[in-house]
Amino acid sequence: SRASAFLASVETPTRKVEKIKDHFGKEIPISEYFGCMTFGLAQMREKLPKDDYTHLMRTLDQSKKLPKDTAESIASAVKEWAVSKGVTHFCHWFQPMTGSTAEKHDAFISIQHAHHSELRVIERFTGSQLIQGEPDASSFPSGGMRSTFEARGYTAWDPTSPLFIVEEENGKTLCIPTVFFGYHGQALDNKTPLLRSVDTLSKDAVDFLKLLGDVDVKKVSPTLGVEQEYFLIDKKFAALRPDLLLSGRTLLGASSARGQQLEDHYFGSIPSRIKSFMQEVEFELYKLGIPVKTRHNEVAPAQFELAPIFEDMNIASDHNLLTMEVLRRVALRHGLVCLLHEKPFAGINGSGKHNNWSIANDKGENLLEPGHTPHQNLRFLACLSVVLRAVYNHAAVLRAGIASPGNDHRLGANEAPPAIISVFLGSLLEDILNSIESGKALKATDEQIIDLGVSQIPDISKDYTDRNRTSPFAFTGNKFEFRAVGSSQSVSVPMSFLNAAVALSFRESATELRDLLKKKKRDEAVMELIRKVIKETKAIRFNGNGYSDEWKAEAKKRGLPILSTTPDALDVLKNKKLTQFLVDTKVLTKEEIESRYHIAVERYVKTIDIEHTSLIEMVGVYIIPAMEKHMKLLSDSHDSMTSASLKKLHKGRVDEFEKVFTTVLSTYEQFLAKTEKSRNSHDEHKRMWDIVKDLQPASFKLRDAVDSAELLVSDELWPFPKYREMLLAH
Ligand code: ADP
Ligand code: MG
Repeated sequence: SRASAFLASVETPTRKVEKIKDHFGKEIPISEYFGCMTFGLAQMREKLPKDDYTHLMRTLDQSKKLPKDTAESIASAVKEWAVSKGVTHFCHWFQPMTGSTAEKHDAFISIQHAHHSELRVIERFTGSQLIQGEPDASSFPSGGMRSTFEARGYTAWDPTSPLFIVEEENGKTLCIPTVFFGYHGQALDNKTPLLRSVDTLSKDAVDFLKLLGDVDVKKVSPTLGVEQEYFLIDKKFAALRPDLLLSGRTLLGASSARGQQLEDHYFGSIPSRIKSFMQEVEFELYKLGIPVKTRHNEVAPAQFELAPIFEDMNIASDHNLLTMEVLRRVALRHGLVCLLHEKPFAGINGSGKHNNWSIANDKGENLLEPGHTPHQNLRFLACLSVVLRAVYNHAAVLRAGIASPGNDHRLGANEAPPAIISVFLGSLLEDILNSIESGKALKATDEQIIDLGVSQIPDISKDYTDRNRTSPFAFTGNKFEFRAVGSSQSVSVPMSFLNAAVALSFRESATELRDLLKKKKRDEAVMELIRKVIKETKAIRFNGNGYSDEWKAEAKKRGLPILSTTPDALDVLKNKKLTQFLVDTKVLTKEEIESRYHIAVERYVKTIDIEHTSLIEMVGVYIIPAMEKHMKLLSDSHDSMTSASLKKLHKGRVDEFEKVFTTVLSTYEQFLAKTEKSRNSHDEHKRMWDIVKDLQPASFKLRDAVDSAELLVSDELWPFPKYREMLLAH
């Protein structure tokens, strides 16, 4: 029964986490095993012959083809290292457009024919096995870019991201980070566009910075630190819920009397079972060279967060995908299930993935950090306005980049950033921009002052203490935080869109600056550009409450795109004018954009279809039968009552239940009829809109009815673990 499952689960013992120990049984410090399961550029420098390493570096710098000998030499060093760690298989690890990762394993072994018919098995790993693979691509989405006769897909090694070993109880596998593309070079994955966007952003930013006077800058890199939110619930509860098993979120469930209203979970002490889970996650991540730094409880009960130290974007993106895998895998070892869904439980906070984004030059200076010299501060303001312009011009596509059925439950709800993209700068920076715009001096206190060195420029404060949790895109001192990204999403998509937007904005701003430089001295020309951009992009800046209805009205007045649902947002990808910047920056071709649109529509429809099918099953074969039993219980006991006054009182209970039962049955019938009708259509685009306009509202009505029933039906008869059990029993 429910109660015994409940008891058994709370008794799950805390798992002890194994640590690497030295000969004396003392724990080895993190610094000594950090990255021990990775083989990246640092290890290559150490292990490869000097010439080969030089060749590899040249290949990376000039995007040339890797010489065959070098590839062989790298492969052999990699094999030696991997075999010494007990690895038997290798795989090309790639990121198909499903949003997750894929791998195809091959053994290292190879057969050597010795004398006569004698076979010898040896460990072998060649350069071409390292560099290229040909997984059967037909089972990965291509969005119509591939006809069956050319169903081939290729994977190619991305040497900028370290190779790593995945250790499982039943074996170790060497994973090779790769891009995945089709016969004609079309991107079939999320990594390729990300790499392209990083490249373009660098080129355009370098051009711009040169005009600013940074003549020796060669490279600009986007940096990324991903805060990952997740829920943990007992595995035994998940097994009892078809919705959690199939969709990763609850489709039914009345709110627990105690949810998050006391706000006592956030930064509260971490339960010991969870702490040991976290320790094991961190241990695994450190071995994989992932610099995870913070862990804490989140706002909702059973919700937690993990954040690493920021890294180069491509690596940070790979690392986030790996982190999600490790979270899921380690949770199971602790008898837990890690839910990465954006909205696993209605009525309490959902999960997001804050993308902390900035750009750095090749000296490692953060270009969004106000600096120590007048030049650095002018550069800071210039780059800041370039970002403002990027977000202002491409807000609709940035919104499309975070669209998913899961995120629809979160965006615009009372705890997550709204679906309207705007930028929060904090009141001081806001004052500074306003005074630059008006040409009036700013009043600032002494400690807030940093020198800009140009007479007409006001002083900039370094004090960014205020925070606005309701903004989807917030400046937090030395970086922007894109908070609207969903917790289960691959960051590659939103980040490649953002990089592309910023790249094009650098490009356009450089063109304008070049013109201004013909007429004015440099600092004045830069100031003039900044002023112009501030004026032009004013509508995107919003410091107020993003949850309020006033903001919706105001945003509409300002002409900002309001794309409340995934269908609204996806239709943006069909608008050639809006997506042109992705083509101009060579991040995606027209064909690739179209295919991504089709895949997103299809995934939206399929995901919700799965939810609706499981909802129908849950209500039809669990809930309604439980209600029938309860009905019988009610009427039997009613009939057995002899006291007239008791009977009269009890009649109220019967009536109330009958009312709810009627609503459950009628909303169930309506929902069934609607889903069946919609499934007759083969037009995916029409189905997407049917779902959002018609089916979803009907499914929510059904859910509401069932949730009211949960509060009436005898606890013994209720077929599913309840919210309070799943959320509060740790
Ligand atoms: P906050 O409290 O503002 O969220 P933290 O310092 O805890 O700030 O940082 C949150 C995340 O932002 C971390 O992952 C951190 O590494 C990352 N971060 C800090 N600086 C940068 C940067 N320059 N570029 C990208 N991410 C950064
Ligand atoms: Mg943060």
